[in-house]
Amino acid sequence: MNNIKDKDKQFIADTYARFDVLIKSGKGSLCYDENGKEYIDLTTGIGVNAFGFCDDVWKTAVTEQLDKLQHISNLYYTEPCVALAEKLIGKTEHLKKVFFSNSGLEANECAIKAARKYAADKKGADCYKIITLKDSFHGRSITTLAATGQDSFHKDFLPLTDGFIYVNADDIDGLKKAVSENKIAAVMFETVQGEGGVHTLSSAFVDEIQKLQQQDIVLIADEVQTGNGRTGKYFAYMHFGIKPDIVTTAKGLGGGLPIGATLFSDKTKDVLTKGTHGSTFGANPVACAGALSVVERIDNSLMSKVNEKSNFIKDSLCNVSGVKSISGMGLMLGVETEKNADEIVKQCMEQGVLIIKAKAKLRLLPALNIPFEQLEKAIAVVKKAIES
Ligand SMILES: *Cc1c(COP(=O)(O)O)cnc(C)c1O
Repeated sequence: MNNIKDKDKQFIADTYARFDVLIKSGKGSLCYDENGKEYIDLTTGIGVNAFGFCDDVWKTAVTEQLDKLQHISNLYYTEPCVALAEKLIGKTEHLKKVFFSNSGLEANECAIKAARKYAADKKGADCYKIITLKDSFHGRSITTLAATGQDSFHKDFLPLTDGFIYVNADDIDGLKKAVSENKIAAVMFETVQGEGGVHTLSSAFVDEIQKLQQQDIVLIADEVQTGNGRTGKYFAYMHFGIKPDIVTTAKGLGGGLPIGATLFSDKTKDVLTKGTHGSTFGANPVACAGALSVVERIDNSLMSKVNEKSNFIKDSLCNVSGVKSISGMGLMLGVETEKNADEIVKQCMEQGVLIIKAKAKLRLLPALNIPFEQLEKAIAVVKKAIES
C-alpha cells in the first residue's frame, strides 16, 4: 500500500482526495482491500456498477464480445450498439434515437450541441441560451462546467462557454423571469440533483419546466446518475410524467465500462446530421454488449425490489437520532446528519462499509441487486456511525 501510495503521488495527477484504502477486488456488493479486509459497498463507484463488482451476467456479455470484435470505426456497421439502442429506446415511451459516447459529460455535450442546432435551425442563430439549475452537475469539460451551476467548479477555468443562465432549483418565478428576458434554446436539469446534494425537484417546478415545451424550448433531462433504474424507474423523469426532448445517461448504463448515451425524441432525433457530431470510441462494441446485459435486466420486478430496499433504508434511518432529513428516490438517497458527514464516512469505512458524500450529506448508491442481508448489515453500521 505504501509503495502504491508513493507511486500514485509521484505519477498520478493530484486531482482526487482519495480515501486511505486500496481496493484490490470485488464480487457483487462486497469488495476487499490489500489486507483482505471485506467491505460492503454502498457506492457502486458513484452509481456505475449497477449490478455490483464483476457481475457474472455482465462479465459473460463483455467477454463473449471481446472474443468477437473489440473496436472498429463508426464508419462501419456493428451489432452491439444497434441492439443496445433498440433496447434502451424500448424502455421509454417517446424516445426514438441514440447517440453513443463514453462518459456523462460527453452525453451532455452532445445534448447541448443538438439543442443549440435545433434552436438555430428553427428560431435563428441568436437563440442559443440554455437555462440550468444552481447546484446542478453536468460535467467537467469547459462547456459542461459552464452548464454546471456551481461557482466553486468554475473558478480557475474562466472564460467558460457562453450562453448559460442559472436558476435556483424549484424557483418558479426565477425560471419564468429567465425565460421572459432571454432567447432560450433549452432547459437542462437533473430531476434528482446528485452531486448537488441529492435534491429531488418539486413537481410544481418540473411542471413549469414542462410548460416551456409549448414555446418549443428543448427540455434536456440529465439522467447520467439517475438513469438505468437508479431511482426505481428506468429514468427519473418518469416519476414526473414529463417527456423530455433529449435525455442523457451514462454511469450505471455500462455496468462498469465507460459509455454515455444521448437519447432523442421525435422532435430532436434528426437534428444531428452526418458530420455534425462523432466519437472515435463511442458505441464501443464491448461497452455496448455489457450495457445491453444491464439494460435487459432493469425490469419491473427489479424496480419493485429497488423500491423495497429504498423503503427499508428510509424506514431504518428516518427515526435515528442525529438524522435531520433523508432525500432522493430509489437507491439514490441522501442523508443529512447532525454529525459531520466525513466523520461518519470514516467510521463506516473502519467498520467495513463504503459510503460517499454529496455536499454535506451522506450519499447511498448501492447496487440495484444488493442482497438484502448485506444491505441490512451495512445500514446497521451506518446507523451506529450516525448515532455515536
Ligand atoms: C457524474 C455526472 C456527470 C458527469 O459524468 P462523467 O462521466 O464524469 O463525465 C454529469 N451529470 C451528472 C448528473 C452526473 O452525476
